[in-house]
Amino acid sequence: VYKGMSYEEMVSIRKRNLNPTLSTLYRKPLAFYKGSKQWLFDLDGNRYLDMFGGISTISVGHCHPKITKVLTEQSDTLGHVSNVYFHEKIHEYAKRLADTMPGNLKCVYFVNSGSEANDLALLMARAHTGKYDIFSLKNCYHGMTYQVMEMTSLSTYRFSVPGSPGIYKTTVPDVYKGVWGGSKCRDSPVQANRKCSCMGICEAGIKYIEEFKSDLNCMVSKNNLAGFWAETIQGVGGIVQFPKNYIKGVYEVVKQNGGLFVADEVQAGFGRTGDHFWGFEMHGITPDIVTMAKGIGNGFPLAAVVTTPEIAQGLGKATHFNTFGGNPLACAVGIAVLDIIEEEKLQENAKIVGTDLILDLAKLRDKYEIIGDVRGKGLMIGIELVEDKTSKKPLSPERCMDILEKCKELGLVVGKGGSYGNILRLSPPMCITKEDATFTVEVLDKAISEIA
Ligand code: PMP
Repeated sequence: VYKGMSYEEMVSIRKRNLNPTLSTLYRKPLAFYKGSKQWLFDLDGNRYLDMFGGISTISVGHCHPKITKVLTEQSDTLGHVSNVYFHEKIHEYAKRLADTMPGNLKCVYFVNSGSEANDLALLMARAHTGKYDIFSLKNCYHGMTYQVMEMTSLSTYRFSVPGSPGIYKTTVPDVYKGVWGGSKCRDSPVQANRKCSCMGICEAGIKYIEEFKSDLNCMVSKNNLAGFWAETIQGVGGIVQFPKNYIKGVYEVVKQNGGLFVADEVQAGFGRTGDHFWGFEMHGITPDIVTMAKGIGNGFPLAAVVTTPEIAQGLGKATHFNTFGGNPLACAVGIAVLDIIEEEKLQENAKIVGTDLILDLAKLRDKYEIIGDVRGKGLMIGIELVEDKTSKKPLSPERCMDILEKCKELGLVVGKGGSYGNILRLSPPMCITKEDATFTVEVLDKAISEIA
């Protein structure tokens, strides 16, 4: 039984002492005090199925006993020591993480958040290439440091302050709403019975690549491309998947222009997409730099950048230092997360449970006019809510909110995303079961039937 601070007191402190623009999901925000596996408990002890996983962050389940154990043991032994000394954990973890990577991606830098990871990668790309210009995709989210904010491309996160120079955006190849279409060509189980006629060379993908080339020619001073950033599936932007050949094509253009390709795996990494451990593998490329956070630490502040020894050389021109990055506690947790994913076969579970869930949600899509699209891979799933299937106009914020509130009432926590907040996002702890997936579909069915 919860005996802590009252809800009313939290409301009053929030008004006075917390970031006033920090948004909360519900009309009356939920307050949780306890978590276990895929479950969250509110102050009154009500249980919710957590299908948002702290925004793709809880990878192996809330309060996993193995993580509690290694954290306790590590803080009993050595809680913190500066990286100017050696300690065992950072070495063990760097090796373990590098072992999950293909090719020459063997050099690991530890930081504390996804924003920091992308910020460091930005420095790395510029330091290594000696060039300046950066491209990212519209509708992307890469974080909130001053420089990275400029790469992030969602109006909700724009401040009217001078931006960081040399950062450009190109059209997001959104296969559902995008100008060039291509909805049959993404890597998602929902496409299985909707085969595209293009035989793997998606025309929409080619047109988007052409558009990037044209943006590159217009906007970048000659030979000045340092890097191209992409989430391997866009998360905050609303689980946007790209035409199958797009990333590979862009990768080649970036290489031809002397730039580096940076894959942001903050949401898609660590087995969440099911078929692969890393999202970039589904696109058939090996990036030059990979950034990761969230699921890496199952909620512990931990993030990393992995690159090749050659690119890492660029940072040798001055000292790069981070006080907490690679802290013994963080590394102990990171190792435990890798162990648990393997021991509990969570990547396989994400594939099996996620695939069935996506296919069941696709049945809801066929049932309701207001479900325009169901997409995703493994346990990274999006449901795009629209006024009607023809116009694809985003469902009004009020009606989207009604659906979220109804789900909450029925014990289900889901997220939302996209510029209009009309895309439901499912990115639960990867330990959810088939029963949880069935419950999710039943609740969404009920909630949507009331609003539709
Ligand atoms: N990249 C992606 C893809 C993200 O989703 C996020 C966070 N939503 C970030 C980077 C930034 O991570 P953080 O909030 O840990 O700084």
